[in-house]
Amino acid sequence: MKITILTIFPEMFAPLHLSMLGRAEKAGLLDIREVDIRAYSKNKHHNTDDAPYGGGAGMVMLAQPIVDAIRDVQGENFKGRRIYLSPRGETLTQKKVEELAREEELILLCGHYEGVDQRALDLCIDEEISIGDYILTGGELGAMVLVDSVARLVPGVLGCEESAQTESFSSGLLEHPQYTRPREFEGLTVPEPLLNGNHAHIMDWQLSESLYLTLKKRPEMAKAYLEGRKFTRHQKKVVDAVFARIREEDEKAKEHTEEACT
Ligand code: SAM
Repeated sequence: MKITILTIFPEMFAPLHLSMLGRAEKAGLLDIREVDIRAYSKNKHHNTDDAPYGGGAGMVMLAQPIVDAIRDVQGENFKGRRIYLSPRGETLTQKKVEELAREEELILLCGHYEGVDQRALDLCIDEEISIGDYILTGGELGAMVLVDSVARLVPGVLGCEESAQTESFSSGLLEHPQYTRPREFEGLTVPEPLLNGNHAHIMDWQLSESLYLTLKKRPEMAKAYLEGRKFTRHQKKVVDAVFARIREEDEKAKEHTEEACT
Protein backbone atom coordinates (compact mmCIF):
# COMPACT_ATOMS: atom_id res chain seq x y z
CA MET A 1 0.00 0.00 0.00
CA LYS A 2 1.25 3.46 -0.87
CA ILE A 3 0.57 6.39 1.49
CA THR A 4 1.72 9.92 0.71
CA ILE A 5 1.49 12.56 3.39
CA LEU A 6 1.40 16.23 2.41
CA THR A 7 2.73 18.38 5.22
CA ILE A 8 4.76 21.47 6.01
CA PHE A 9 6.61 19.43 8.67
CA PRO A 10 7.88 16.24 6.95
CA GLU A 11 10.42 15.69 9.72
CA MET A 12 7.59 14.92 12.17
CA PHE A 13 6.98 11.50 10.60
CA ALA A 14 10.13 9.64 11.70
CA PRO A 15 8.12 7.31 14.03
CA LEU A 16 6.22 5.88 11.06
CA HIS A 17 9.48 4.45 9.68
CA LEU A 18 10.42 2.54 12.84
CA SER A 19 9.29 -0.71 14.46
CA MET A 20 6.69 -2.83 12.64
CA LEU A 21 5.89 -0.27 9.97
CA GLY A 22 9.60 0.27 9.31
CA ARG A 23 10.08 -3.48 8.85
CA ALA A 24 7.04 -3.67 6.56
CA GLU A 25 8.49 -0.85 4.46
CA LYS A 26 11.79 -2.70 4.13
CA ALA A 27 9.86 -5.83 3.11
CA GLY A 28 8.10 -3.83 0.37
CA LEU A 29 4.61 -4.12 1.92
CA LEU A 30 4.29 -0.40 2.61
CA ASP A 31 5.51 2.71 0.86
CA ILE A 32 5.06 5.72 3.15
CA ARG A 33 6.30 9.06 1.83
CA GLU A 34 6.20 12.58 3.16
CA VAL A 35 5.94 15.44 0.69
CA ASP A 36 6.80 19.00 1.72
CA ILE A 37 3.99 21.32 0.61
CA ARG A 38 6.42 24.24 0.83
CA ALA A 39 8.36 22.86 -2.15
CA TYR A 40 5.30 23.56 -4.33
CA SER A 41 4.84 27.18 -3.29
CA LYS A 42 5.20 29.55 -6.22
CA ASN A 43 5.62 32.58 -4.07
CA LYS A 44 8.99 34.26 -3.53
CA HIS A 45 9.47 33.24 0.11
CA HIS A 46 7.89 29.79 -0.28
CA ASN A 47 5.01 30.86 1.96
CA THR A 48 2.21 28.36 2.37
CA ASP A 49 -0.33 30.56 4.20
CA ASP A 50 -1.97 33.98 4.15
CA ALA A 51 -4.50 36.02 6.14
CA PRO A 52 -8.15 34.92 5.89
CA TYR A 53 -10.66 36.82 3.76
CA GLY A 54 -13.24 38.37 6.04
CA GLY A 55 -10.68 38.92 8.79
CA GLY A 56 -10.29 37.00 12.02
CA ALA A 57 -7.44 35.46 13.92
CA GLY A 58 -4.78 33.20 12.41
CA MET A 59 -3.72 32.28 8.93
CA VAL A 60 -5.14 29.98 6.25
CA MET A 61 -3.11 27.56 4.12
CA LEU A 62 -2.92 28.61 0.48
CA ALA A 63 -4.77 26.54 -2.13
CA GLN A 64 -2.07 26.72 -4.84
CA PRO A 65 0.79 24.73 -3.24
CA ILE A 66 -1.64 22.10 -1.93
CA VAL A 67 -3.46 21.61 -5.24
CA ASP A 68 -0.18 21.45 -7.18
CA ALA A 69 1.31 18.97 -4.66
CA ILE A 70 -1.73 16.66 -4.75
CA ARG A 71 -1.92 16.72 -8.56
CA ASP A 72 1.78 15.96 -8.81
CA VAL A 73 1.60 13.10 -6.30
CA GLN A 74 -1.54 11.47 -7.71
CA GLY A 75 -0.33 11.49 -11.33
CA GLU A 76 -2.59 10.29 -14.17
CA ASN A 77 -4.36 7.15 -12.99
CA PHE A 78 -4.79 7.60 -9.26
CA LYS A 79 -6.94 4.83 -7.81
CA GLY A 80 -7.06 5.70 -4.14
CA ARG A 81 -8.49 8.20 -1.71
CA ARG A 82 -7.43 11.76 -0.93
CA ILE A 83 -8.09 12.61 2.69
CA TYR A 84 -7.87 15.88 4.62
CA LEU A 85 -7.29 15.42 8.37
CA SER A 86 -9.84 17.78 9.87
CA PRO A 87 -11.81 18.19 13.10
CA ARG A 88 -14.99 18.54 11.06
CA GLY A 89 -14.47 15.19 9.28
CA GLU A 90 -16.00 11.78 9.95
CA THR A 91 -14.56 10.37 13.17
CA LEU A 92 -12.00 7.61 12.63
CA THR A 93 -13.26 4.22 13.85
CA GLN A 94 -11.96 0.68 13.38
CA LYS A 95 -14.66 0.17 10.72
CA LYS A 96 -13.34 3.17 8.80
CA VAL A 97 -9.76 1.94 9.27
CA GLU A 98 -10.74 -1.45 7.77
CA GLU A 99 -12.37 0.32 4.82
CA LEU A 100 -9.27 2.46 4.17
CA ALA A 101 -6.95 -0.56 4.45
CA ARG A 102 -8.63 -1.96 1.32
CA GLU A 103 -7.44 1.02 -0.76
CA GLU A 104 -4.37 0.73 -3.00
CA GLU A 105 -3.23 4.24 -2.25
CA LEU A 106 -3.95 7.09 0.15
CA ILE A 107 -2.98 10.75 -0.01
CA LEU A 108 -3.24 12.54 3.34
CA LEU A 109 -3.29 16.31 3.71
CA CYS A 110 -2.23 17.86 7.03
CA GLY A 111 -3.62 21.31 7.72
CA HIS A 112 -2.23 24.00 10.03
CA TYR A 113 -3.19 27.37 11.50
CA GLU A 114 -6.93 28.01 10.91
CA GLY A 115 -7.06 25.30 8.26
CA VAL A 116 -6.94 25.09 4.46
CA ASP A 117 -8.46 27.32 1.75
CA GLN A 118 -11.78 25.60 0.96
CA ARG A 119 -11.03 25.61 -2.78
CA ALA A 120 -8.12 23.19 -2.33
CA LEU A 121 -10.53 20.83 -0.55
CA ASP A 122 -13.24 21.27 -3.18
CA LEU A 123 -10.78 20.56 -6.00
CA CYS A 124 -8.62 17.76 -4.62
CA ILE A 125 -10.02 16.09 -1.50
CA ASP A 126 -12.40 13.10 -1.44
CA GLU A 127 -13.16 13.08 2.26
CA GLU A 128 -12.31 14.61 5.63
CA ILE A 129 -11.40 12.51 8.65
CA SER A 130 -11.17 13.57 12.29
CA ILE A 131 -9.35 11.59 14.96
CA GLY A 132 -11.66 12.87 17.70
CA ASP A 133 -13.61 15.79 19.07
CA TYR A 134 -10.68 17.97 20.04
CA ILE A 135 -8.42 20.40 18.20
CA LEU A 136 -4.79 19.63 17.34
CA THR A 137 -2.29 22.28 16.23
CA GLY A 138 -1.84 20.45 12.93
CA GLY A 139 -2.96 17.40 10.99
CA GLU A 140 0.37 15.54 11.40
CA LEU A 141 -0.53 13.62 14.58
CA GLY A 142 -3.90 12.77 13.06
CA ALA A 143 -2.19 11.48 9.91
CA MET A 144 0.14 9.35 12.04
CA VAL A 145 -2.78 7.81 13.92
CA LEU A 146 -4.53 7.06 10.65
CA VAL A 147 -1.42 5.59 8.97
CA ASP A 148 -0.53 3.44 11.97
CA SER A 149 -4.03 1.99 12.35
CA VAL A 150 -4.50 1.38 8.60
CA ALA A 151 -1.01 0.06 7.82
CA ARG A 152 -1.17 -2.68 10.46
CA LEU A 153 -4.15 -4.18 8.61
CA VAL A 154 -2.23 -4.49 5.34
CA PRO A 155 -1.65 -8.24 4.88
CA GLY A 156 1.77 -9.29 6.14
CA VAL A 157 2.48 -6.15 8.20
CA LEU A 158 1.59 -7.65 11.59
CA GLY A 159 3.01 -11.05 10.86
CA CYS A 160 0.08 -12.56 12.81
CA GLU A 161 -3.16 -11.67 11.02
CA GLU A 162 -5.31 -13.43 13.63
CA SER A 163 -4.38 -10.92 16.31
CA ALA A 164 -5.91 -8.08 14.25
CA GLN A 165 -9.19 -9.98 13.97
CA THR A 166 -9.55 -10.65 17.68
CA GLU A 167 -8.58 -7.21 18.90
CA SER A 168 -10.90 -4.70 20.56
CA PHE A 169 -13.45 -3.25 18.07
CA SER A 170 -12.73 -5.79 15.28
CA SER A 171 -14.64 -8.55 17.04
CA GLY A 172 -17.43 -6.21 18.20
CA LEU A 173 -16.24 -6.47 21.83
CA LEU A 174 -13.34 -5.01 23.79
CA GLU A 175 -10.49 -7.46 24.18
CA HIS A 176 -10.18 -9.67 27.28
CA PRO A 177 -7.19 -9.08 29.63
CA GLN A 178 -3.83 -10.54 28.56
CA TYR A 179 -1.20 -12.26 30.75
CA THR A 180 2.34 -13.53 30.26
CA ARG A 181 5.03 -15.06 32.49
CA PRO A 182 5.42 -15.34 35.45
CA ARG A 183 2.31 -17.18 36.71
CA GLU A 184 2.38 -15.09 39.86
CA PHE A 185 3.43 -11.47 40.15
CA GLU A 186 3.31 -9.56 43.44
CA GLY A 187 0.65 -11.95 44.75
CA LEU A 188 -1.53 -11.71 41.63
CA THR A 189 -2.01 -14.94 39.70
CA VAL A 190 -2.95 -15.68 36.10
CA PRO A 191 -6.62 -16.82 35.86
CA GLU A 192 -6.90 -20.62 36.08
CA PRO A 193 -8.65 -21.23 32.69
CA LEU A 194 -5.60 -19.81 30.89
CA LEU A 195 -3.28 -22.29 32.58
CA ASN A 196 -5.00 -25.64 32.16
CA GLY A 197 -4.41 -25.92 28.39
CA ASN A 198 -8.07 -26.70 27.62
CA HIS A 199 -8.87 -24.71 24.47
CA ALA A 200 -12.65 -24.72 25.07
CA HIS A 201 -12.17 -23.34 28.61
CA ILE A 202 -9.83 -20.66 27.32
CA MET A 203 -12.39 -19.60 24.66
CA ASP A 204 -15.17 -19.45 27.27
CA TRP A 205 -13.02 -17.36 29.60
CA GLN A 206 -12.05 -14.96 26.80
CA LEU A 207 -15.65 -14.48 25.67
CA SER A 208 -16.81 -14.03 29.25
CA GLU A 209 -14.13 -11.42 30.09
CA SER A 210 -14.56 -9.57 26.80
CA LEU A 211 -18.32 -9.32 27.26
CA TYR A 212 -17.97 -8.34 30.92
CA LEU A 213 -15.49 -5.54 30.13
CA THR A 214 -17.56 -4.28 27.20
CA LEU A 215 -20.79 -4.24 29.24
CA LYS A 216 -19.01 -2.28 31.98
CA LYS A 217 -17.00 0.15 29.86
CA ARG A 218 -18.90 0.45 26.56
CA PRO A 219 -22.53 -0.68 27.13
CA GLU A 220 -23.70 0.68 23.75
CA MET A 221 -21.09 -1.47 22.00
CA ALA A 222 -22.11 -4.56 24.01
CA LYS A 223 -25.76 -3.94 23.12
CA ALA A 224 -24.96 -3.81 19.38
CA TYR A 225 -22.87 -7.00 19.69
CA LEU A 226 -25.58 -8.92 21.53
CA GLU A 227 -28.36 -7.79 19.20
CA GLY A 228 -26.62 -9.00 16.08
CA ARG A 229 -25.39 -12.34 17.40
CA LYS A 230 -26.58 -15.96 17.35
CA PHE A 231 -25.07 -17.93 20.24
CA THR A 232 -24.79 -21.67 20.63
CA ARG A 233 -26.53 -23.10 23.71
CA HIS A 234 -23.16 -23.32 25.43
CA GLN A 235 -22.19 -19.72 24.58
CA LYS A 236 -25.60 -18.57 25.82
CA LYS A 237 -24.74 -20.10 29.21
CA VAL A 238 -21.46 -18.14 29.24
CA VAL A 239 -23.32 -14.91 28.36
CA ASP A 240 -25.98 -15.52 31.05
CA ALA A 241 -23.23 -16.10 33.62
CA VAL A 242 -21.72 -12.71 32.76
CA PHE A 243 -25.08 -10.99 33.35
CA ALA A 244 -25.45 -12.90 36.65
CA ARG A 245 -21.95 -11.73 37.69
CA ILE A 246 -22.81 -8.09 36.94
CA ARG A 247 -26.17 -8.35 38.78
CA GLU A 248 -24.39 -9.80 41.81
CA GLU A 249 -21.80 -7.01 41.78
CA ASP A 250 -24.52 -4.37 41.46
CA GLU A 251 -26.46 -5.85 44.40
CA LYS A 252 -23.32 -5.92 46.56
CA ALA A 253 -22.55 -2.30 45.65
CA LYS A 254 -26.16 -1.33 46.54
CA GLU A 255 -25.94 -3.09 49.93
CA HIS A 256 -22.63 -1.36 50.57
CA THR A 257 -24.14 2.09 49.84
CA GLU A 258 -27.19 1.37 52.04
CA GLU A 259 -24.94 0.27 54.91
CA ALA A 260 -22.85 3.43 54.56
CA CYS A 261 -26.00 5.58 54.67
CA THR A 262 -27.48 4.00 57.85
N1 SAM B 1 -9.89 26.27 12.62
C1 SAM B 1 -10.09 24.87 12.57
C2 SAM B 1 -11.45 24.53 13.17
O1 SAM B 1 -11.90 25.21 14.07
O2 SAM B 1 -12.05 23.53 12.73
C3 SAM B 1 -9.03 24.11 13.35
C4 SAM B 1 -7.70 24.15 12.69
S1 SAM B 1 -6.49 23.20 13.55
C5 SAM B 1 -5.84 24.35 14.67
C6 SAM B 1 -5.22 23.00 12.40
C7 SAM B 1 -5.22 21.70 11.64
O3 SAM B 1 -5.06 20.63 12.54
C8 SAM B 1 -6.45 21.38 10.83
O4 SAM B 1 -6.42 22.01 9.58
C9 SAM B 1 -6.40 19.87 10.72
O5 SAM B 1 -5.59 19.45 9.63
C10 SAM B 1 -5.69 19.46 12.02
N2 SAM B 1 -6.61 18.96 13.06
C11 SAM B 1 -7.00 19.59 14.18
N3 SAM B 1 -7.81 18.85 14.93
C12 SAM B 1 -7.95 17.68 14.28
C13 SAM B 1 -8.68 16.49 14.55
N4 SAM B 1 -9.44 16.35 15.63
N5 SAM B 1 -8.58 15.48 13.67
C14 SAM B 1 -7.82 15.58 12.57
N6 SAM B 1 -7.11 16.70 12.24
C15 SAM B 1 -7.17 17.73 13.08
